[in-house]
Amino acid sequence: MFDYLIVGAGFAGSVLAERLATQAGKKILIVDTRSHIGGNAYDHYNEEGILVHRYGPHIFHTNSREVFEYLSQFTQWRSYEHRVLASVDGQLVPIPINLDTVNRLYGLKLTSFELEEFFASVAEPKDYIRTSEDVVVSKVGRELYEKFFRGYTRKQWDIDPSELDKSVTARVPTRTNRDDRYFTDTYQAMPLYGYTRMFEKMLSQPNIKIMLNTDYREIIEVIPYREMIYTGPVDQFFDYRYGKLPYRSLEFKHETINTPVHQPVAVVNYPNQHLYTRVTEFKYLTGQEHPKTSIVYEYPRESGDPYYPVPRPENAELYKKYKELANATTGVHFVGRLATYKYYNMDQVVAQALTLYTNLAARSSWNIEENEHALAATAS
Ligand code: FAD
Ligand code: UDP
Repeated sequence: MFDYLIVGAGFAGSVLAERLATQAGKKILIVDTRSHIGGNAYDHYNEEGILVHRYGPHIFHTNSREVFEYLSQFTQWRSYEHRVLASVDGQLVPIPINLDTVNRLYGLKLTSFELEEFFASVAEPKDYIRTSEDVVVSKVGRELYEKFFRGYTRKQWDIDPSELDKSVTARVPTRTNRDDRYFTDTYQAMPLYGYTRMFEKMLSQPNIKIMLNTDYREIIEVIPYREMIYTGPVDQFFDYRYGKLPYRSLEFKHETINTPVHQPVAVVNYPNQHLYTRVTEFKYLTGQEHPKTSIVYEYPRESGDPYYPVPRPENAELYKKYKELANATTGVHFVGRLATYKYYNMDQVVAQALTLYTNLAARSSWNIEENEHALAATAS
């Protein structure tokens, strides 16, 4: 008898498997429909021996010391600060929009102070910021919004930014200085030997059994377990009782090129050209040296693997109904990006999973203080 059947071997499922097995001595079966662990963060060496991310670029960044220290038990790190350029008006310029972006785009020599004045002169003030259009237009005006955000967002989501929640484009800040990093988090690093190696370490425990290429629905009748942790799409769990929750998908076109370098930074965004949104060159992320280079193009798709919950009011309403069902389902815990329908980064999913573990431990008679102590000790 397994104590927990965990559906999905991504960050959410793997963190819980590791905590429950090592800190609470629980017997775990973790199943995934895919042929590998790691969920969307899975990476592997391709046929040319280059480490690539099968499901698009995954850059780790967090402000949470707890999350960083937790994962540090399973990997060493390689410092990496992510930089992105956008192809706009025939130039490659920094995104997030910063002082250099505007100066290069318009052939100006503004100072930070003058750029603030420039933004103030073109911004369209809003009483209430509601949509992804409002966020950008209220800061940098309509022209820069059209150049950098409108086309990209329509391509990525197949919705105009005016119909998408503000939280989507709010992920990308605007700056008046020359900082060209994509993220400003305290901790920015890539797992030294890749994500999959890190997941292997998390899951290599005697109490954890892994079953791949398996949909949990094929086995729940025949394999006994006490409770379930579910990290797949929440609407699928309830057989789409209230209808389908929209998830946005992507098609990844991987390519290896017979040249050591393809582009000047890890990611180049194409807001207004091409059918793909961005091109990633993996060697920048991994630090690998190789005479060839591997890249991936991301083509947004309506159907396919569910990658992004779509943040807009009607979807939030529909999710609320599924959340009520989930809350009323005893013995099943819903966690992760798909099961809680949240546009979460990896660190947020780790934090959510650690919180669920703490709650499960508190609910039971496991000694949580001892667990926390153990976590702090292994992290230091
Ligand atoms: P997942 O990784 O999706 O894992 C869920 C698992 O459940 C999957 O492996 C799936 O196969 C399995 N499953 C589903 N249904 C079933 C079933 N019926 N039976 C068995 N198994 C099932 N985050 C960052 O922090 N930085 C980034 O740079 C970043 N880039 C991203 C780029 C892309 C293109 C995408 C799509 C996401 C990116 N993310 C990034 C987000 C990151 O991928 C997620 O936060 C994280 O992987 C979510 O982990 P999870 O465990 O919730 O879900
Ligand atoms: N975005 C944009 N132009 C860009 C970069 C981002 O319009 O050059 C918008 C777009 O809607 C995108 C969102 O901001 O989906 C969030 O961007 P992020 O890079 O965080 O997307 P992710 O890496 O999660 O796909």
